[in-house]
Amino acid sequence: MARTYDLWIDGRWAKASTGRLIDRTSSAHGGLVASFAEGGREDADNAVKVARRTFDQRAWSDLPGNAKASLLTAWADLIAAKAEELAQIEAEESSKPIRFARGEVAWSIDIVRYAAALAWQIKGDAFTNLGPDAIGLVSREPRGVVGMILPWNFPLVTVMQKLPYALAAGCTVVIKPSEMTSGTTLEVAALAKAAGIPDGVINVVTGSGEVIGDALSTHPQVDMISFTGSTAVGKMIARNQAGRVGRVGMELGGKGANIVFADADIEAALDGVLLGFVLNQGEECCAGSRLLVEKSIAESFVTRLAARTKKVRIGLPLDETADMSALISEKQMNAVLARIALGKEEGGRTIVGGGRLTDSGRERGFFVEPTIFDNITPQMTLFREEIFGPVLTVTTFDGEEEAIALANDTLYGLASGFWTKNVDRVHRVSRRLRSGTLYVNTYLETAMQLPFGGFKQSGIGREMGLEGLLEFTEIKSAFIKLGERTPALPHTVD
Ligand code: NAP
Ligand code: MG
Repeated sequence: MARTYDLWIDGRWAKASTGRLIDRTSSAHGGLVASFAEGGREDADNAVKVARRTFDQRAWSDLPGNAKASLLTAWADLIAAKAEELAQIEAEESSKPIRFARGEVAWSIDIVRYAAALAWQIKGDAFTNLGPDAIGLVSREPRGVVGMILPWNFPLVTVMQKLPYALAAGCTVVIKPSEMTSGTTLEVAALAKAAGIPDGVINVVTGSGEVIGDALSTHPQVDMISFTGSTAVGKMIARNQAGRVGRVGMELGGKGANIVFADADIEAALDGVLLGFVLNQGEECCAGSRLLVEKSIAESFVTRLAARTKKVRIGLPLDETADMSALISEKQMNAVLARIALGKEEGGRTIVGGGRLTDSGRERGFFVEPTIFDNITPQMTLFREEIFGPVLTVTTFDGEEEAIALANDTLYGLASGFWTKNVDRVHRVSRRLRSGTLYVNTYLETAMQLPFGGFKQSGIGREMGLEGLLEFTEIKSAFIKLGERTPALPHTVD
């Protein structure tokens, strides 16, 4: 049954000032899956004021680390108790296969536990080498009110890679999830109250980016914007913040290379390359969307990859056996199909896929076949621009230097992978790839201890790891004089 959600402000459900709803119909089967309140600017303003007041009253930021940790842990337990329901909401709203949605919920729960542990660990430095009459204290304080603006591809994961860290740091937040996929964010916000996290610490205002996203990123009482989404919108938000030197954290687009050297474990590489471009229907910022394969093995590798690609199961979100589901919207499907058409015009050749699927229960959805393009050169649009769909380009190379040059020939630098059995090459290539995340002899596998973020136009700052917490803090330095002070302006002394 489709749920209807109001806004979540100051620990309670609140009607949107517009009185309107945004209906989310499934992009896989066409049924209504949720309705969200369409917030207006005054709702965003109201939520920011609540977050500001809550922060300035200091009840949350002053709470000792152990107390924050136990509330965060209680929250994780409540999310875990609702895990299956959250996975179903996530699968239905974002049209992703349920088994992957379950994994994403489990990952999100682990993040809350990890952030709870970090809440114990926020600390600074003391310099006791400043002579006997002084001490230098470096402390970390919460940034303040954080506005979070989020995408639709991993709705829960993208909010949870920010929110628990911001809370552990002592911030208060106003969240704007994607207008298509706001359900899990609202659900976890309400669970935070049930866990005992005070009212006003987490606020969620649903609605459009042009209204709510813009209101947050231009609001004078917001101290930081933490954004995940496209590079184009990220730049707009950074411009909004520039006028008042506002803090930003940005997780943006990607154009990952997946490099297969001739000395790789070919079976493992086939599996990883396939997963790297079909996971989440290719709507994946870390997708390995550019296959770079060594010339000597290219023909057989690509032939085998195409054969495996044909076996990918494409079904409805709640189909337990599906590997892929529908794209997020008709607009996104059309954008992907337009890119496929352009790839052909520019001289690329599809060796598998290339079209929409409208058979066997997929009549009402926006399904695109996994598609592989051969003959792609670095000048072509397909090699350069993020497609955000299940499309892989194949480019061949000769030797390590050419592989590295091709991999780095992009404005992006979020995630890349490579496959080799040569241990020296593992380290050499790792140093040279200009990318925030590397997958070596695997793809899309990571751990929450490892910071995540982009080089180049893929972002600013890091999530996850200890850095993910530090992003939500400001550093304060205090030079503290002990005992007698020699006057600096002795002639003015009485
Ligand atoms: P998007 O179009 O940039 O939207 C992201 C968020 O920004 C949405 O909540 C959107 O609101 C909002 N927004 C739109 N216009 C805005 C404006 N003028 N001012 C303020 N906010 C505005 O991105 P998307 O299509 O949702 O997601 C796909 C992109 O996200 C891809 O480029 C992908 O690579 C990137 N991504 C990056 C990461 C990472 O960690 N690096 C992770 C996931 C996704 P609406 O609700 O109106 O859309
Ligand atoms: Mg919109």
